[in-house]
Amino acid sequence: MFCKHKDPIPKNDQSDVYKITCGDCGAIYRYIGGTGRQLKIRIREYFDAFHDNCPMKSAFAAHLTKYGNCVEKATVSLLHTETIKNGSRALETSEIEKHTQSS
Ligand SMILES: [Zn+2]
Repeated sequence: MFCKHKDPIPKNDQSDVYKITCGDCGAIYRYIGGTGRQLKIRIREYFDAFHDNCPMKSAFAAHLTKYGNCVEKATVSLLHTETIKNGSRALETSEIEKHTQSS
């Protein structure tokens, strides 16, 4: 007798994609992180990277440092969860919208 198991995608192969919007200038960063940890913890890592004055950890923290923007104003939202097939699951940030200067 067939036992029809679902074939769930292992959590290790999925990554959540977050959008982080700078509250000061509106720059948007995309942040890919693995599932399994709460969003708040993820974001705290960002803030920690900022507060530790270690912007290399985080493109967004680097942005805050570079432009002197306020981390407390940043907003974070979950865009979607995507499956990673071959790529590394290392934390990754990428700027998806250029910082725009208004002057
Ligand atoms: Zn900014």
